[in-house]
Amino acid sequence: MAVAIVGAGVAGLATSIYLKRSGQDVHVFERAQTLEAVGSGIMVQPSGMAVLHELGLLDQCLRKGAPLKGVLGTSPLSQRLILDTRYEHWKPGAHGLGMHRSVLLNVLYEEAKRCGVQFQFGLGVNDFISGDKVRISVTEPQPLADYEGVRSPAEYDALILASGRNSTLQYKSPIQHRATPYSWGAIWATVELPDNLNQGVLRQWYNRSRQMFGILPIGESANSTQRLCSLFWSRPVDTDISLFGDGGTLESWKEKVRALVGTVADPLLEQLQSADQFALATYTDIKMPAWNCDRVLAIGDCAHSMSPQLGQGANMGLVDARAIAQAVEWHTGNGSSRDGHWPSIFAAYSTWRRDHLSYYQSASRHLTPLFQSSSLITPIIRDVALLAAQHVGFVRNHAATTLIGGRTGWLKTNDLIVPLHFWDGKAP
Ligand SMILES: Cc1cc2nc3c(=O)[nH]c(=O)nc-3n(C[C@H](O)[C@H](O)[C@H](O)COP(=O)(O)OP(=O)(O)OC[C@H]3O[C@@H](n4cnc5c(N)ncnc54)[C@H](O)[C@@H]3O)c2cc1C
Repeated sequence: MAVAIVGAGVAGLATSIYLKRSGQDVHVFERAQTLEAVGSGIMVQPSGMAVLHELGLLDQCLRKGAPLKGVLGTSPLSQRLILDTRYEHWKPGAHGLGMHRSVLLNVLYEEAKRCGVQFQFGLGVNDFISGDKVRISVTEPQPLADYEGVRSPAEYDALILASGRNSTLQYKSPIQHRATPYSWGAIWATVELPDNLNQGVLRQWYNRSRQMFGILPIGESANSTQRLCSLFWSRPVDTDISLFGDGGTLESWKEKVRALVGTVADPLLEQLQSADQFALATYTDIKMPAWNCDRVLAIGDCAHSMSPQLGQGANMGLVDARAIAQAVEWHTGNGSSRDGHWPSIFAAYSTWRRDHLSYYQSASRHLTPLFQSSSLITPIIRDVALLAAQHVGFVRNHAATTLIGGRTGWLKTNDLIVPLHFWDGKAP
């Protein structure tokens, strides 16, 4: 059985390891020339850590990452901490993990290579036709068969699209797909983590929902032992294209941060000397009624991109990978014939992933504007609700189980495909 995966991001790499270990011949096509860790640092949640643990890769990640106790947010509107969600509200001793993207991608890539996954870098897949097999074509002028290691002809039993949120490949299949850009995004930068800001949490400050500054400890990068953090500054992206917003400069932006956070931010701001140190991140909401069609499956951001407000995107990609492995195990276990193998595996995957993904996409859509919007009313409701929530056990537990990546609904929560007990929740 040969499977092609498009995209060497978190979702594609984790899936390639699971499929290779289950005995498939796996080829990953990545249009970048090398493994690229583009993007800010990320929070890996217990749901994602469970998958890394099952793959035997969690210890490597723990060695480089920064353990996180939770998320704390201050609002000057109510002059106090309004957001206080901790992993220990879910399970004593539990924690999340702040990581530099390069570390997570390298750990997954090295394991995929070790297992024997074949990689084709510098090859962008630009089309495919699905029938009894899936035939793919790439952007390069030579026929695919001219590339070392690529099957000839370039036909696969299944195709997995893990090509990220800007992918256009899903338009080539009958899988329905709707992409809606969020009107707010963020600028971000990665700098050394100053000791006075090393609280072991994702720390945020809000001014209504128009301003939000966040600091995420992310541990070390793949090639350095310096302790780093990613910082985020929220801003609208639909009306204003200047980097610091309102035509502002780096210095005027620093003044805004000082006004919101205080001089405690100075050791961090002093490291920012040029606009080149920042990048602009935009977000997209991608909705698909089903993620499979025949022998083709969309996973990761390509299938269900969401706002990063809940810190879930990469985790969802890891859980996707585990769910595909589970669907393969299920198919092998129930003795089904090889006819229709991949279509039924992908159909099972789509059914199993529905509740989990629907909840997180819905939560992202509804909760992001509470923190990123021009509304005057919603931040007042948010502050009151969050303050009250700190004293209501049910709501506190709801917030914690949302943060860990373990919910499948607003009111009820069914069993996840990835049992969270794979990872015992103990701090390193
Ligand atoms: C500011 C910000 C903060 C975030 N914070 C968090 C966080 O704290 N926690 C979290 O879990 N998530 C977070 N996310 C989300 C997370 O980054 C994404 O969900 C995750 O990286 C998606 O992984 P992926 O593998 O699906 O896609 P990607 O990482 O986008 O990988 C897709 C790959 O496919 C390749 N590709 C695309 N098209 C083709 C083609 N046609 N042919 C060949 N290759 C192709 C691309 O080059 C790329 O390498 C954040 C996102 C942003 C923007």
